[in-house]
Amino acid sequence: FTSWKRHGQNSNRPGPRLMAAPALGVIADDFTGATDIAGLLARAGVQVSLRLGVPEHPPEDTAAFEVIALKCRTAPVTDAVAECRAALAWLRDAGAERFFWKYCSTFDSTPAGNIGPVAEALMDDLGAGQTIYCPAFPENGRAIFMGNLFVGQQLLSESPMKDHPLTPMRDSNLQRLLAPQTTRPVGLADRLTVAHGEAALQRRLAELRDAGTAHVVVDAVADGDLQIIANACSGMPLLTGGSAVAMPLPAIYRRDGVLAVDAPPPRRPALASGAVILSGSCSAMTNAQVAAYRSNAPSFRLDPVTLAESGVASAIDWLNGQADGTAPLIYATAQLDEVQHAQATLGAERAGQLVEAALAELALAAFGSGVRRFVVAGGETSGAVARSLGLTRLDIGAEIAPGVPWTFAVVDGEDVAVTLKSGNFGTRDFFTIAMARLEG
Ligand code: ADP
Repeated sequence: FTSWKRHGQNSNRPGPRLMAAPALGVIADDFTGATDIAGLLARAGVQVSLRLGVPEHPPEDTAAFEVIALKCRTAPVTDAVAECRAALAWLRDAGAERFFWKYCSTFDSTPAGNIGPVAEALMDDLGAGQTIYCPAFPENGRAIFMGNLFVGQQLLSESPMKDHPLTPMRDSNLQRLLAPQTTRPVGLADRLTVAHGEAALQRRLAELRDAGTAHVVVDAVADGDLQIIANACSGMPLLTGGSAVAMPLPAIYRRDGVLAVDAPPPRRPALASGAVILSGSCSAMTNAQVAAYRSNAPSFRLDPVTLAESGVASAIDWLNGQADGTAPLIYATAQLDEVQHAQATLGAERAGQLVEAALAELALAAFGSGVRRFVVAGGETSGAVARSLGLTRLDIGAEIAPGVPWTFAVVDGEDVAVTLKSGNFGTRDFFTIAMARLEG
């Protein structure tokens, strides 16, 4: 009656074993994008598991929603395609039958970019004749009208994305952006069609499919459009887009019996005490968060130049000297002039590496002394800490801020809670809210 069922044999293991088939398998092209969609799916109150990279082991103990975070947004096309196909193979092995290719809501890519080639490769593997492209996220000001992507009131090509260091977006038209990335025809289902509802959209998609159009950009300017699109397309083997169009899927899957009404709730392990906040982001928001938290909690500042001279030992000693029950903050977070000073002395790359390595070592030292709650600020910093703790799977927990959930992982057989926040996310009181949210 549902794909949230026990299903038996797995090609890599002898004998039957119990495993739930995920209702949806998501492949995300970067880590914060993966966290974003995982958090939105978790609002349905079911288990969502976020894997950091394609798991090395065959699927086991899978969640209702499985999300694989890759780092392939700007990777060479052949690498990105190979990684995404490996992710798809793993998700299919887990029993998933529906898939979502998640990229940024600003369609970050280059003419030699990965969004189209990956979609086409996944379609080939799945035998899917058609998919949709819908990066709209109305709540965050991303809308698509007549195939053109808007950021707030500006066209994408007139928004700050036009000067992005890695993926400058100089065209706003998704059909034009997609065409050089794909081998099969690209078409549009526009807002006028979407506004007529699910049946009209399905008719338009069928018409395009009959004409051989494999790739369909779908307009959406409001949440109601996304609901119509999700309803019309939930049966497609592959959907592609930003996270917002996936938001209605859990409720649709429940209605259709793809996700059982009694799918287990998220696990919420009891944690031993001990918390630490590690901040390596220098974004404006993180600077404000550090300043707010420092005023009423113990804190230690890491300076890259000092780290280069005398290492991380004094920070570890300081951390070990903190009383139980506090959540001390260790931060390299600094204002632009301080960052520039460190970069002029050490070089930008070395300064960054020293900080990342120090925070990674501190995370490990904290774990060694019994700390089981980790708040980490900074995208790259999060990557370094995740690697040092050996994180491979995160089970999504309570949402702290939009796009930033608590997650649970197992390190050396011990339950830990981790939240990995990219620079500009959260409000001023993020660190305090995070701690309160975990207890509540
Ligand atoms: P964000 O998510 O805000 O971009 P990241 O962690 O991805 O944060 O990037 C911040 C980078 O800045 C990291 O490589 C970090 O090591 C580096 N960094 C942090 N503090 C300093 C500092 N005081 N001086 C120089 N570089 C720093």
